[in-house]
Amino acid sequence: MSAKYVFVTGGVVSSLGKGLAAASIGCLLESRGLRVNMMKFDPYLNVDPGTMSPFQHGEVFVTDDGAETDLDLGHYERFTHAPLSRDNNLTTGRIYEQIILKERRGDYLGKTVQVIPHVTNEIKNAMRKVSSNGADVTIVEIGGTVGDIESLPFLEAIRQMRQELGRENTVFVHLTLVPWIAAAQELKTKPTQHSVKELLGIGIQADILLCRSDRPLPRDMKQKIALFCNVEEKAVIGATTVPSIYEVPLRFADEGLDALILKYLHKVAPESDMNRWKDLVHRCYNPRDEVSIAIVGKYVEYEDSYKSLKEALTHGAVSQHLKLKVTWIEAEGLESKTPDDKSYESQLEGFDGILVPGGFGKRGIEGMLNAIRYAREKQVPYFGICLGMQTACIEFARNVCGLKDANSSEFDPASQHRIIYKLRELLGVEEMGGTMRLGAWTCILQEDSLAAKAYGGATEISERHRHRYEFNREYEALLTGGGMLISGTTPDATYVEIIELPGHPYFLGCQFHPEFKSKPLEPHPLFREFISASYKNRQARLASESVASEVEA
Ligand code: GLN
Repeated sequence: MSAKYVFVTGGVVSSLGKGLAAASIGCLLESRGLRVNMMKFDPYLNVDPGTMSPFQHGEVFVTDDGAETDLDLGHYERFTHAPLSRDNNLTTGRIYEQIILKERRGDYLGKTVQVIPHVTNEIKNAMRKVSSNGADVTIVEIGGTVGDIESLPFLEAIRQMRQELGRENTVFVHLTLVPWIAAAQELKTKPTQHSVKELLGIGIQADILLCRSDRPLPRDMKQKIALFCNVEEKAVIGATTVPSIYEVPLRFADEGLDALILKYLHKVAPESDMNRWKDLVHRCYNPRDEVSIAIVGKYVEYEDSYKSLKEALTHGAVSQHLKLKVTWIEAEGLESKTPDDKSYESQLEGFDGILVPGGFGKRGIEGMLNAIRYAREKQVPYFGICLGMQTACIEFARNVCGLKDANSSEFDPASQHRIIYKLRELLGVEEMGGTMRLGAWTCILQEDSLAAKAYGGATEISERHRHRYEFNREYEALLTGGGMLISGTTPDATYVEIIELPGHPYFLGCQFHPEFKSKPLEPHPLFREFISASYKNRQARLASESVASEVEA
């Protein structure tokens, strides 16, 4: 049987949510008992997003095999069970890198190497490789917007795939915008018409249109779009903005999207079962209370930099019927002007929990240390992720163990007390780029620790990494003597993976990024427990505030 593909392209403008749309299609097809795989092509020339600034690109999502990928792969993992690896996200840079390597090796036997057929063949081979692992349907998202010069080879490749595999094995889904024009008090279909025409110009007739709009598309609009864009009326799917992204698959199902894709792919599948998603969305929209978390980081003005983090917190909150209220605090703004300056405290008051996420570089570190000190001393639940664990160790070494110049060699290479360092620095190995500890590593948990309890008594877990620096075990005795517990290490005990403070309501730092493995239907245990502790803190705080106001009255 031939492999089947859904190709997802985008038109009119970027940021319409193509990744979410592709992930939602995957979710719906899985709900029909199908095995899906998902992949994304990014038309830029960087070999991967690993070296790109979070401000440019948003979060770098990491897969188990240590690939640094586009954040849309995070949506794929949260919405589906597709097995993702470095094969599932390719950039133009990666494709060209492979081709140039072959050319230098002489693999092309003296032929002229060209975009067609060599680049397009490389793209098609990448799709075949992903679909060959037993998926019933492979969903391929083409990054960028139709009309961009950069995406042309990818569009040509999917055009050829349709030629080779036939209509019954390929569906073209195109995401477009139907804007509301206030002056005319009307939704406008012209941008969609142009975008579909642009695609047609390169030989692709869209089969299904997902029309993004801020209000429902009336029937006559759908008829008009169907007529002008040459698709069936029921293939004009409304993609109206909804408050929670987890509602998107449900709305697509209401519009009959999964049934239509299966019809076009000549695929028979069981009835859909979306009950768990319906329950999830119900919980999103009907919280019993709220929980407020402060995230103290350095890329806070651009939320996409911490995409998976925000989702993982949401999963933890929604699983407990709570509404998540996140406040992003720029770490630099919490720095003290003088040693005794505690004015930052007023910015941290009233939150139920404090979190310091991952990050690179020196900027804002002193502000993070202040936030951590506040959480530790005032018994506010604290969750430190990667950089947030490293800074928690530095704060503890400085303020509890008395090592005033404790630091990470990332921020102060000359520090006398490098609590956080690069293991290889000691071995005298010079390194540049490509030296991060990436992807899945096994971690052994200390019995009865906060971590072990969160993971349901497990003694061995696997989590994903993306960092260069590590806890320096030469300082272990000092820090544990001061009351810190090392509750997780790699099996060979080389690397410290989790630290906690017994006696604090919830103070945990982990060297890995648990947010990459949280799913809405399977919230990550560390996020669930952090939210739970934060909520307890909220209830205790509100109770004591109400007692205080009664006394005053
Ligand atoms: N900058 C730190 C390191 O490289 C932390 C990285 C991170 O938080 N992802 O080790």
